[in-house]
Amino acid sequence: MKTVLITGGAGFIGSHLCEFLLDKGFKVICADNFVTGDEKNVEHLKDKNKFVLINHDISKHITIDEPVDYVLHFASPASPIDYQKIPIQTLKAGSLGTHNTLGLALAKKSKYLLASTSEVYGDPKESPQKESYWGNVNPVGPRGCYDEAKRFSEALVTAYHNIHKLDTRIVRIFNTYGPRMRKEDGRVVPNFINQALKNKPITVYGDGKQTRSFCYVSDLIDGIYKLMMSDINEPVNLGNPDEYTMLEFADMVKELTGSKSELVFEKLPTDDPKVRCPDISKAKKELSWEPGFKLEEGLKKTIDYFK
Ligand code: UDP
Repeated sequence: MKTVLITGGAGFIGSHLCEFLLDKGFKVICADNFVTGDEKNVEHLKDKNKFVLINHDISKHITIDEPVDYVLHFASPASPIDYQKIPIQTLKAGSLGTHNTLGLALAKKSKYLLASTSEVYGDPKESPQKESYWGNVNPVGPRGCYDEAKRFSEALVTAYHNIHKLDTRIVRIFNTYGPRMRKEDGRVVPNFINQALKNKPITVYGDGKQTRSFCYVSDLIDGIYKLMMSDINEPVNLGNPDEYTMLEFADMVKELTGSKSELVFEKLPTDDPKVRCPDISKAKKELSWEPGFKLEEGLKKTIDYFK
């Protein structure tokens, strides 16, 4: 039986990953400090004897008293509202946390996978974004704490691969949605769905013409597993290339919820990327992966969850 450590395992994506890997027969050690993660997300896994939950802040040194075959570093606030409230913890999770988990992987001779993000591309001047694009990030803007921490993490993982020959993976995760997103995490999917379900005004930021591409969580998990099992050390984009403006997205949410909500327009947050769309040709070619869920299908499941 292989053992995997998942940091941020009680978060939205982390908890789905814990569940998926337990089903695949892994022993799962889930580490979380519950800053944005929630014990409830993994409550149903606790009675499985191959699941261990530890309360740990990954910016502090971590020791595990057993062999670890895989280290998956997913711990970080990921919603713009969250990471702007706690920028220092965010920077620490993506710097000290990455260093600590890499050190552990080196000591245990584990394979290592970093959860990176499309935010490394910042407000991109190229669209769709290929892995070869270097990005357009403002280091001192409100998103800098997250974007730069993830960029630093990618550089550190690459250095551990080159210098220590650690077997590493980097996944650049684009907007992902589904059950277990926090209702109040401030991102567009929970905001619009919960506003629509209560027939409250739907808050569109700016003119709503900015775009995002949304990937259903089970598609993402499937891609992460394929990457984990591959031998690709360079970054790989995972996301759904189906791109929508926020106005189109609001209309779809209204329709699927049968809502009477009006749209209200609010100020566009500083440095909000104008477009975001993954080029997934690398994942398609090298992992034989592509997302299967259409936005409408995934949204129906997510709406049921929030109901
Ligand atoms: N957004 C919006 N209304 C909301 C929340 C977000 O119009 O209530 C917009 C936001 O300005 C951005 C997009 O939706 O352009 C996606 O925002 P989110 O916070 O989900 O994540 P991001 O992709 O910006 O990291």
